[in-house]
Amino acid sequence: MARKLIIRYTSFRECPNCGGRGDDGAAWRPLSCKRCEGRGRLVTDVEVEDSVRGKLPRSAYDFNTKGEVFLVDFDEDEEIEVILPGDRWG
Ligand SMILES: [Zn+2]
Repeated sequence: MARKLIIRYTSFRECPNCGGRGDDGAAWRPLSCKRCEGRGRLVTDVEVEDSVRGKLPRSAYDFNTKGEVFLVDFDEDEEIEVILPGDRWG
């Protein structure tokens, strides 16, 4: 059985670049905000639960404001299934 990582976003903040709108506010063809990619929010905290090791300590992973999670000391040969929240920006 493949190792599974379950990602949960536990905290967000309003994107300061677009004020939470997700775009540049143009009346016609507004452009998606580059910083939050149209979501209006940035990820500020993430929880990772590992099917092998349980809930990972914060030092075992890193993440960015777009919600991409990076494992520290990750063996690239290992098969890992990453499970994101169904509605990740819930
Ligand atoms: Zn934005």
